[in-house]
Amino acid sequence: MGEIISGKELSKEVREEVRVKVEKLKALYGAVPHLAVVLVGEDPASQSYVKAKGRACTKAGMKSTIIRKDDTITEEELLKIVKDLNSDDSVHGVLVQLPIPKHIDENKVIDAIDISKDVDGFHPLNVGYMHLGRNPILPATPKGILTMIKSKNIELKGKDAIIIGRSNIVGKPVAMLLMKEHATVTIAHSRTKNLKEKCLQADIIVAAVGRANTVTADMVKDGVVIIDVGVNRVDGKLVGDCDFENIKDKASYITPVPGGVGPMTITSLLENTVECFERIMKK
Ligand code: NAP
Repeated sequence: MGEIISGKELSKEVREEVRVKVEKLKALYGAVPHLAVVLVGEDPASQSYVKAKGRACTKAGMKSTIIRKDDTITEEELLKIVKDLNSDDSVHGVLVQLPIPKHIDENKVIDAIDISKDVDGFHPLNVGYMHLGRNPILPATPKGILTMIKSKNIELKGKDAIIIGRSNIVGKPVAMLLMKEHATVTIAHSRTKNLKEKCLQADIIVAAVGRANTVTADMVKDGVVIIDVGVNRVDGKLVGDCDFENIKDKASYITPVPGGVGPMTITSLLENTVECFERIMKK
């Protein structure tokens, strides 16, 4: 059986490192990183993500503020909240939990966040910096994936990687980060032909689709590294995009769902909040 890369275990280690760093920063600056999260509406998944983010911040010794707003909030009102957080010197990270109600232009909200407080790394300038390799704040899920791969010293140089999914928050940035690490990257999506043949060529498969069993055992070669980003509910059970049970014996490394990429996303958010804090303090 392949080795399981536990995001849960790795998260514990990295979050402890973050906590120790926060203590040092507190001694140095007399302040701790402060993340402000804006939550609009009552979406249960968003509510639980935001709660988990707040809890993780507090456990790491950071400050967290959650600003809850009704989904009747206007675009103007939401932009004003972002603007106020931008100019609040006691806040070092600003995050608007997505999705937001359809009557508000998501791009306008992302664009409004001060790039030095953009802990999600979604601001177009941060995205541009990532593409140019210019010291960006990396989006949390792709950053967490890279941390997982590096934690096992998995060689990326010259390896064939396929990323299934081309979203702005997962697929595209993961492709960019793996290319930067010298992997040869293929990006697949819903119109890709012969996905099985392409996957069979791959040394590394990152599945970020949102559909259970997108990758099955007959689609992977022996020794493959599987990073399963997908979160799907099947018969009340949480599963990824890959058929874990039947792939695990063929893989050299595989991430589980739950307990894989998920916990690493919040861990990377904590790291990003610390990074924004340090950048602001050093200015
Ligand atoms: P998304 O925006 O819906 O993108 C899904 C991608 O999958 C699209 O590019 C789509 O192609 C592609 N796709 C759909 N059906 C396909 C198929 N049959 N074959 C190949 N590609 C297909 O989703 P996302 O935001 O990237 O998230 C993907 C999954 O990861 C979801 O399950 C989400 O819940 C999960 N997720 C987990 C975390 C975490 O922290 N664990 C974080 C973010 C997301 P087109 O572009 O052609 O439509």
